[in-house]
Amino acid sequence: MTTQTKNFIELSDIIALRIDCKKCKTISVFPFEEFRDIPQSCPNCEQEFIGFNDNVTKHTIRDFMKAIRAVSSLTEKGQFSFSMEIANVNSDVSSGRASGSKV
Ligand SMILES: [Zn+2]
Repeated sequence: MTTQTKNFIELSDIIALRIDCKKCKTISVFPFEEFRDIPQSCPNCEQEFIGFNDNVTKHTIRDFMKAIRAVSSLTEKGQFSFSMEIANVNSDVSSGRASGSKV
């Protein structure tokens, strides 16, 4: 017999957003409910995250956050739940994708 474990998260499971600076590896964590915009630059090394006039990136992230909040609201009122499958973090340690415990 073969068994398979699948992991799902509900949108209500999202409590914070994490932004990693690729240059200095600084990690910034924002409470999901309070998140407004991606910072212009890294708070540590000041590496620019998005260009000053990069409204596409800014609006794309805003739209993404808006969509998460909208779907979350729909599922609170509706007769269905919504969840997303995530990779099994325990089986993917060798590729470095098990970032849940990396901090
Ligand atoms: Zn940095």
